[in-house]
Amino acid sequence: MDSRAIIDRLFTETAADREELRHLLSDEEEDTQEYLAQKAREVSRRTFGRQVYLRGLIEFSNYCKNDCKYCGIRRSNRNAERYRLTEEEILSCCEIGDKLGFRTFVLQSGEDPYYTDEKMADLIRKIKRRFPKNAVTLSIGEKERESYELYYRAGADRYLLRHETADEEHYRLLHPEEMSLKNRKRCLFDLKEIGYQVGCGIMVGSPYQTMEHILEDLFFMKELEPHMIGIGPFITQKDTPFSEFPDGSVKLTLKLLSILRLLFPKALLPATTALGTLDPMGREKGILAGANVLMPNLSPKDVRKKYALYDNKICTGDEAAECKRCLAARIEKIGYEIAETRGDYGESSHCI
Ligand code: SAH
Repeated sequence: MDSRAIIDRLFTETAADREELRHLLSDEEEDTQEYLAQKAREVSRRTFGRQVYLRGLIEFSNYCKNDCKYCGIRRSNRNAERYRLTEEEILSCCEIGDKLGFRTFVLQSGEDPYYTDEKMADLIRKIKRRFPKNAVTLSIGEKERESYELYYRAGADRYLLRHETADEEHYRLLHPEEMSLKNRKRCLFDLKEIGYQVGCGIMVGSPYQTMEHILEDLFFMKELEPHMIGIGPFITQKDTPFSEFPDGSVKLTLKLLSILRLLFPKALLPATTALGTLDPMGREKGILAGANVLMPNLSPKDVRKKYALYDNKICTGDEAAECKRCLAARIEKIGYEIAETRGDYGESSHCI
């Protein structure tokens, strides 16, 4: 099999079969990687021009009732210093973000029962009333369909819920017994049906992950047809059961970003903070591999270190304004610019 031919078919037909994808994933040649990135960039420029969308991330609570084995804010981690922001504090993050030009707020947290459905819906309504032009994205984990419906009616626009892995057995190795892939998938399909723009995704190089799992992930994504796909390398967190596992690979993450761009030309693909944590130029490389979204941190400076999903997370010492300035400068350097619109799925269709 010829990698170039596979990439060309991906480019023209947005399709590949399992063998072709397997071949591409195991081809370690620099030339292949470069050709893949070049084609992915071409697609992303055709769809989005040189515009990169910003999503302001507000990490509003690190309390979590779940116990995912990879995650630093799992409930069993006694070393995690817990915090939760008040409604006023969250609104003030939005205020700062809005002034900085963010048109999307991403509310992310552990699965914190303190924020009941009513509290969440109330908060969403307040944000939408004050910032009617802005999109609200939720990333607060698995809920009942009724809860998702309630948030949607309150004005939430999008929902991020990484599926983490599409393989049953692998899912069980990463999660506590009471969680299931079946429910995670149920959540994603419910969210889509309700009308959210939905994001799924995986950690690249998570413990026990094999190439076959990644292939399964790609086929699951084709089935779900998400609007957004968030992938980043797994990063070891010292207080978790996975503290002895190595970090995921930046190179494989970049390669997967390019494959995703070719398989899903219009999808919103973030160059994640995890990618920037393992490589100082990781986010820039992500954009050049086909990503088109950045998610700078809008959380108050004093809580950022506490939202420690993994070790050595970057940007924990900067104010939101500094983060924005830094990112704008970084992407300008590689010839891109920050978009001023909300960046909804299917919003933009540029010509090269
Ligand atoms: N509680 C929410 C938000 C989870 S945090 C939810 O369940 O969706 C967001 C994402 O961070 C997770 O989906 C996971 O993929 C990622 N993450 C968690 N621990 C990580 C680690 N050690 N390395 C890299 N990414 C991690």
